[in-house]
Amino acid sequence: MLSTLDIFKIGIGPSSSHTVGPMRITKRALQEAKNRGVLGRAARVMVELQGSLALTGIGHGSDKAAILGLVGAEPDTLDPDWAEATFEALKTASDIALFDGPTVGFNYRRDVDFRGDIMPRLHPNGLCVRLYDAAGSELFSATFYSTGGGFIASAEQLSRPAENDRIGVAGKGALPFSSAAELLAICARDGLNIYDVVLANEDARRPRAETDAGLLRIWQVMSGAIDRGLRSEGILPGGLSVKRRASRLYDTLISESHNQESERLFDWLNVFAMAVNEENAAGGRVVTAPTNGAAGVIPALIRYYCAFDGWQPGDAVSEGKIGRFLLTAAGIGMIYKQRASLSGAEMGCQGEVGVACSMGAAGLCAVWGGSASQIEHAAEIGMEHNLGLTCDPVGGLVQIPCIERNAIGAVKAANAARLSLRDSGEHKVTLDQVIETMRQTGLDMSSKYKETSQGGLAVNVVEC
Ligand code: SF4
Repeated sequence: MLSTLDIFKIGIGPSSSHTVGPMRITKRALQEAKNRGVLGRAARVMVELQGSLALTGIGHGSDKAAILGLVGAEPDTLDPDWAEATFEALKTASDIALFDGPTVGFNYRRDVDFRGDIMPRLHPNGLCVRLYDAAGSELFSATFYSTGGGFIASAEQLSRPAENDRIGVAGKGALPFSSAAELLAICARDGLNIYDVVLANEDARRPRAETDAGLLRIWQVMSGAIDRGLRSEGILPGGLSVKRRASRLYDTLISESHNQESERLFDWLNVFAMAVNEENAAGGRVVTAPTNGAAGVIPALIRYYCAFDGWQPGDAVSEGKIGRFLLTAAGIGMIYKQRASLSGAEMGCQGEVGVACSMGAAGLCAVWGGSASQIEHAAEIGMEHNLGLTCDPVGGLVQIPCIERNAIGAVKAANAARLSLRDSGEHKVTLDQVIETMRQTGLDMSSKYKETSQGGLAVNVVEC
């Protein structure tokens, strides 16, 4: 059952599907081995990265994430400096202390296997963890899938028909829905807006104060990523020699304060979005919104339009602009997650920056006073003009085209919100139709354009 606090997950860069997900998978596999009573007998561990996790795994840091998961790291709490130092040490080590288990033999070159030739049937991001005993016999083998936005799933979970799942929890006051049409029907029936429905489902799950604390933490991490990105200069890691640009652009904007604010709208959205995605590319702390690769769109919109709305410590976050933005955007993101996918490896970039644009347009429309119907229209416009967007990251890194793409996505989201607000809410294309179109387009898209770096910019831009 999806929650706002699942859609917005705190983690580290550069990728939710290729970094956050693999870290969660290896730790979960060890827990599974412990539950089966075999972890204590392990003498060697190996991880096999399959499909897209292998093809772009080095650039996305999937090997690092998988290894850190084996030692018990959690994406939302880990210190990026500790992570880097631990990974470098384990790359030359001969053993590894498994989380909640024994110290076992481990050789990075031998025991981290990149199997780009294996494209799993259930999802293109497969990761298998194997344990062997002292005699070299296999004790345990489990494959999990990183399904986008930091979500992970077992084969059993992926095999279950999606239509059996509904968004929201059973319980007092819950308002579950499984499509945009159902969400709008609830809003019309009960006189609610989309953020009210999403909040009712959060209330059915946990005390309001915990939801408020979670929303505040999400915004603090988003805002912190903007601030660090605006302060940081230099070259991004990975070997592409991509320069950080947000800091210099920010200084330029500050010094050009005589310009008309209307002329600077694009500049501000650009600089905030790029600051977050440069931080993500550098392995810093960001929030999946709904993925790491698309982490800049929503923070940029909130910082520009909502952050200075008079909220004070102690005020209910869920009732202010930031809370309403996040709840609305999460409600839209849940429908994409449930009915299609948030994974670039399944949908191309339409499933990452495209979805972020759709969620951001909905959130902005909500804080601008849009009705539920106008918000649904904003979300629809935000995706309609991202359909077919491919994922072709140069060098397998989350830098080109990802960083600029978030800036473009933020501007497009603001425009989608304006278009819907100037309309009555009536429109030809529904959000459900555009989500289904995205899903079908993603299925038809060649795997070259789905986070494999085997086509598009990845093969036409020479790395140097
Ligand atoms: S191109 Fe889009 S989907 Fe692909 S890695 Fe970059 S942000 Fe993610």
